[in-house]
Amino acid sequence: MKGFNSAMAITAAGLLVMTSSAEPLPRSSKCESPLVQDKPLVDSIHLKDLLKCAQDLEDIAYATPYRNRVHGSEGHKNSVKYFKDTLEALGDYYTIELQEYTTEVTFGSSRVFSADGIDFATDSFEYGNNGTWTDVPLVNVANLGCNPEDIPDSVAGNVALIARGSCTFVQKITNAGAKGAVAAIIYNNAEAGIAAGTLGGVNDLIPVGGLTRADGLALAARVEAGETVTSSGDYWAYVDFGTSHNVIATSKYGDPNNVLFLGAHSDSVDKGPGINDNGSGSCGLLTVAKALSKWRTNSQVKFAWWTAEEEGLLGAEHFVETSTAADLAKIRLYLNFDMIASPNYYLGIYDGDGSRYNITGPPGSDVAEKLFEDWFDAKNLTTFGSEFNGRSDYGPFLDAGVPCSGLDTGADGVKTEEEMTIYGGIAGEPYDQNYHDAGDNVSNLALFPFEVNGKAIAHAVATYGKSWEGFPARLASNSTIPARRHVHARESGASKRHNCGVNEVLDY
Ligand SMILES: [Zn+2]
Repeated sequence: MKGFNSAMAITAAGLLVMTSSAEPLPRSSKCESPLVQDKPLVDSIHLKDLLKCAQDLEDIAYATPYRNRVHGSEGHKNSVKYFKDTLEALGDYYTIELQEYTTEVTFGSSRVFSADGIDFATDSFEYGNNGTWTDVPLVNVANLGCNPEDIPDSVAGNVALIARGSCTFVQKITNAGAKGAVAAIIYNNAEAGIAAGTLGGVNDLIPVGGLTRADGLALAARVEAGETVTSSGDYWAYVDFGTSHNVIATSKYGDPNNVLFLGAHSDSVDKGPGINDNGSGSCGLLTVAKALSKWRTNSQVKFAWWTAEEEGLLGAEHFVETSTAADLAKIRLYLNFDMIASPNYYLGIYDGDGSRYNITGPPGSDVAEKLFEDWFDAKNLTTFGSEFNGRSDYGPFLDAGVPCSGLDTGADGVKTEEEMTIYGGIAGEPYDQNYHDAGDNVSNLALFPFEVNGKAIAHAVATYGKSWEGFPARLASNSTIPARRHVHARESGASKRHNCGVNEVLDY
């Protein structure tokens, strides 16, 4: 129904816009920026800006030897610098903090196997040694290679082809190496994909790769028939300690006791530049952070670009562990954005009320989910609850009792028929066919969810940046993480510096 009141509202809004553009309010101090408004903030999020950011991150990755943005790599350090420089260019709107973190990572790796020039799907084994060989014949190993006598003398200088089963990978590889094989290829003994696993620890074994059962049996049959099958392999991983940073930007405006906190991870895996995972979320935040800098907020707004998410949420966990319980209790809501432009997307909102997956978050998680649901509903866009399992940077915040929500468009899960009917794409295929792979680049982003999710982030920032009305208060008992080390830089300045707007009557 189109009623009288809505017509009035349109007129009033139109007048407001005209007045403010014709006659800007005098700005005697920076504290008099206008209070954030939903529609203008949402309308200022454009696909071209999101894409420019994504392209910049891809260029940063591709300018480095491993073409990725793994925590501690040159690609990641330059990503951190990119976020920091972009935020600093906004003047003094944000206080920017870099929080250092070191952990062991795989900077680059290769898993390639071919026979007679044809590539096969392959995998490496954990703790497998680096190895490269070219045009080396395959030799079949009898039985399962568990006994030294299973290994023919002819493996010397060649590559041993061995079936999985009965004994450990280490035993098979040790036996083949003892007879002089230069490498081993183990194929599966069941229809369970490519043979892979762990060798248990550091060792001096010959390099090893895995194949599927079907590929292994086919190659073994050709060798058995007397054919010379030459193989080439390239298995290596460069693993070392890497140091990089969380980037944390805190708005100058707003009440530091009622913080809206938004985060996205800035690192990738070693296989690719990580543009959907998670250049998309990183750029969504950066674009909104830039747009917000024209406005005043009543709540303090913090943005974080977390490092080492791909190593196990380590950057975000480090932040939570080094925050005091008192500081964590000031976070009214943490919003997470990880993969918001998946090529075979659906529109997901973290299922904070447990309606789909029966896992609920701290009170407020449901309210934030509803905020997003209503916003997409109003645009006639269907959304689904997304599993609220803590498998991204919000996990440590959930553990600390902070209400959480967020958006995602799917990772390695498989699109349903129903979702295909709604969003298009391909049912039965992963939401992101390039998940954790080299193809996770700008050319494979889905543009529609990228833009609409970017605007949804802006809507949440405008809403809670202005008021927490209707949002449950944090309970002191929600903070379950004990005070540990303090991050003094963040603590000491916060209450004194960021006090613009706190004098207003707030409806928290
Ligand atoms: Zn991710």
